[in-house]
Amino acid sequence: MPERTSYDAVIVGGGHNGLVAAAYLARAGRSVLVLERLDHTGGAAVSTRAFTGIDARLSRYSYLVSLLPPAIVRDLGLRFAVRKRTVSSYTPAVRGGRPTGLLVGGGEARTRESFAELTGSEREFAAWQRFYGTTRRLAERVFPTLTEPLPTRAALRAAVDDDTTWHALFERPLGELVEETFTDDLVRGVVLTDALIGTFAAAHDPSLRQNRCFLYHVIGGGTGDWDVPLGGMGALTDALAEAARGAGAEIVTDCAV
Ligand SMILES: Cc1cc2nc3c(=O)[nH]c(=O)nc-3n(C[C@H](O)[C@H](O)[C@H](O)COP(=O)(O)OP(=O)(O)OC[C@H]3O[C@@H](n4cnc5c(N)ncnc54)[C@H](O)[C@@H]3O)c2cc1C
Repeated sequence: MPERTSYDAVIVGGGHNGLVAAAYLARAGRSVLVLERLDHTGGAAVSTRAFTGIDARLSRYSYLVSLLPPAIVRDLGLRFAVRKRTVSSYTPAVRGGRPTGLLVGGGEARTRESFAELTGSEREFAAWQRFYGTTRRLAERVFPTLTEPLPTRAALRAAVDDDTTWHALFERPLGELVEETFTDDLVRGVVLTDALIGTFAAAHDPSLRQNRCFLYHVIGGGTGDWDVPLGGMGALTDALAEAARGAGAEIVTDCAV
């Protein structure tokens, strides 16, 4: 049960967003109550001990960190660490009746080799490097704006400072750029994973939902890297809950609103 009958802010749901809001509001001197339906906080960012007898905490749903602004980690004094992945993806395929696949990771030489083996030339890997060189430059310019007041379209375009990239990623369906850049259908599919996942959009959808989904997959941390949290995502949300409580927020679980 909550300790009081009145609060400056009542937050429904103790996922990472609710916990971050609670921590900042409490640090600003507000009285804050978080109400969480489940018996634990964290929402979709939680860990579990998946293997009996092995004391390893693994992420249960959400599992990679990219969009968490370092300023939040610093402001809230979160004790939380990530590690780089060595492999981003492996996509199995069959070519000419033979099992093969596309490895992205394991170092540039191995990735290059995998592209060449799958596609039969150096072309797709060169295109891949140019493409992700462009998104990396974009990431440096766009990621800092996520913790600033929402820029106008014109201000963001000026910050991107590259009309070709702006048109290709912000004005036209992403499928057009992907088709212009890559010829191999499997490579196109791997690139489009970041654009289509969870959207139910198509690569050429005029709504550009796929472009937005793609952008938030490639700008995180100003690099587009997705890192592995030590102790799983639960380590992050436990640290957030601790920061919120430490600042004076009350968190009540088993309490559906
Ligand atoms: C399978 C999966 C994999 C994902 N992988 C990644 C990833 O690798 N990296 C990444 O950055 N993102 C990933 N995401 C997305 C990410 O998990 C979400 O963006 C994030 O969890 C949203 O946080 P939130 O705090 O807004 O909401 P949630 O995490 O959904 O938390 C909401 C909380 O509110 C509680 N709640 C809801 N209704 C009520 C109510 N009426 N009363 C009380 N409590 C209530 C819920 O129980 C829950 O604890 C993934 C999502 C899924 C499902």
